[in-house]
Amino acid sequence: MRSIRGHLLTPTSRGSWREERDAVLHVGADGRIESIGRSAGGGRHLLVPGFVDAHAHVPQHAICGVPAGRLLEWLRRLVFPREARDRGEGAERFFREALRHGTVAGAFYSSAWPESAEACRAAMERLGVRGWIGMPLMDLFTYRPDLARLPLRARTRRVIGELESVLRRDGRVRTAVTPRFALSCSDELLEAAGSFPQPVQTHISEQPDEVSAARRRGRDYLAVYERAGLVRRESIYAHGIWLTASEWTRLRRAGATVAHCPTSNLFLGSGVMDWKAAWKGHVALGTDVGAGPSLSMYDVMRASWASHLAKSGTAPSARMLLEAATVGGACAIGEPLGCLEPGRPATLQVLDRDAILAGEADSLDDLLSRIVHRGGAHAIRAVYVDGKKVKLATASGARYES
Ligand SMILES: [Zn+2]
Repeated sequence: MRSIRGHLLTPTSRGSWREERDAVLHVGADGRIESIGRSAGGGRHLLVPGFVDAHAHVPQHAICGVPAGRLLEWLRRLVFPREARDRGEGAERFFREALRHGTVAGAFYSSAWPESAEACRAAMERLGVRGWIGMPLMDLFTYRPDLARLPLRARTRRVIGELESVLRRDGRVRTAVTPRFALSCSDELLEAAGSFPQPVQTHISEQPDEVSAARRRGRDYLAVYERAGLVRRESIYAHGIWLTASEWTRLRRAGATVAHCPTSNLFLGSGVMDWKAAWKGHVALGTDVGAGPSLSMYDVMRASWASHLAKSGTAPSARMLLEAATVGGACAIGEPLGCLEPGRPATLQVLDRDAILAGEADSLDDLLSRIVHRGGAHAIRAVYVDGKKVKLATASGARYES
């Protein structure tokens, strides 16, 4: 049996936080936490759950940090040409980099080529990253030359057929039905997508011109997805900056999750999501790489805090941000992560206390705040996935240590 020692800080499944200064996690052969005991001397290390990135695009890792206008222009000039070439070559590097930043699971998009989705799935399985992979569905326009040659009806049928073949590969990494966003999909494609029982992920209300285009197809943006049966418990809607009060209420009632992506929203000048509306329901955080410039969920938490404070004078607390980055995302993807408790996977980050704190923390909230505002890859000493330590040697090299 393996033991992991340190100062435990974790949300619990009851909605509270647990802090144990001298904790020892006993990990069983199946990679789950068997029990949590006490043992002196682990105080230099903070044990916190691994992060869940609820929204990121694997092929866009290669274009992170390059500005090219606002959303629709950025997609056309930078993203679509990049994704058109992508067959999943960068998947391994993406997920290694995510692990280096403490991210152990998430909801991810490949390019619109089925090979890309399979390469992402294979990399996730090899590295032990859990969650969803989805191939973005597009028929109204497409960057794939083979599909662009077909008339719309035939293109729609081809995309549905490819989705069915990707869904057949479902395993530990689940396939998410992924309409890219309303503007890229015909109603026929959205309806077909909504008929599958698998999880759903897509974008909503990121920028005003996108919202007005979507509103031409329904009474509001969400209605276009509702009509197709896509708004449900296992669904993740990215951004939600310009949602109306009615749309927020309907998303909450459906049990859908909004993935809040503040680094991306700042980079593309999209706006600031209404966190008070979001926090009444299910909310998770996403890097939205490549509009988000890094795979660091620490950067995402800080951007959320700073953008809300600047906009409204109030900001989410460190507890809220850490919960959204861990257990919030885990609930969204239906994985038993985000709480370090007996029976759950020993999937966590080990942080160097001295890299975060100069001196002492006065309280649990003080310590959590330091983690949010001063944490990052520089402070991560180890990442465990199912009780196995991932080697985090360099930006491009992560592998299991036996
Ligand atoms: Zn996105």
